[in-house]
Amino acid sequence: MPIGPGTLTVIAGPCAVETPQQALAAAQMAKAAGASLLRGGAFKPRTSPYAFQGLGEKGLKILADVRAETGLPVVTEVVNVSDVELVACYADMLQIGTRNMQNFALLQAAGQAGKPVMLKRGMNATIEEWLMAAEYIAQRGNLDIVLCERGIRTFEAATRNTLDISAVPIAQLLSHLPVIVDPSHSGGRRELVLPLARAAIAVGTDGIIVDVHPHPETALCDGPQALVGGDIRELASIAQHLPPIVGRTLTPAPELAPTG
Ligand code: PEP
Ligand code: MN
Repeated sequence: MPIGPGTLTVIAGPCAVETPQQALAAAQMAKAAGASLLRGGAFKPRTSPYAFQGLGEKGLKILADVRAETGLPVVTEVVNVSDVELVACYADMLQIGTRNMQNFALLQAAGQAGKPVMLKRGMNATIEEWLMAAEYIAQRGNLDIVLCERGIRTFEAATRNTLDISAVPIAQLLSHLPVIVDPSHSGGRRELVLPLARAAIAVGTDGIIVDVHPHPETALCDGPQALVGGDIRELASIAQHLPPIVGRTLTPAPELAPTG
């Protein structure tokens, strides 16, 4: 399922995997919103060591179960070099987060893991530094790389991060890699996510990655930016109707393999 020219890929799911029920409900929301890939963190790189760190392998197993149930392939973050092999066993795509964009040993290990890699832009990284980080993955023989603009740190405090919308066409021009946008971690607030998603599609993004949660008020991670049930219909409509205006079509979810 290629991500790139002519298509718009929606990736959605919870910030963190919490329980089998929560992950499945979020995956069903993702599917209803038009997603063809499920996101969800099992290893969470948290700013505070006292915050929920993720379920680890238990979370990966939940993701695999949800994939079997929904047919959605899974993208999940890897935080440590020593976990790359384990995460690659379960994941369809590895995610390297903003806090690890210049963890060169991790980039190299991910480059050897035999799975596509989504590389988020460091919150303090220039576009050039981001592209050089991608080179560390490519150098190990893995050219299946997706860049993800997730907002950068600026003086502005009204958003969690400042979505650098210009980074999308610039990175596409300089690298020829697909570039997706994370309106959830950039906006940081539910009411900004859909407007930023619309802007990203208009500017020519190859995809969007969006947090959704069945009960954000009890979420263990990033509840305030998660879309809820009522937002899903609008996200689905955006994903269906905007891409054709910019010469793209929404990538459909894979058919669910018949069971039994
Ligand atoms: C995430 O996608 O769950 C995440 C931690 O994002 P970022 O690395 O962009 O903060
Ligand atoms: Mn998050």
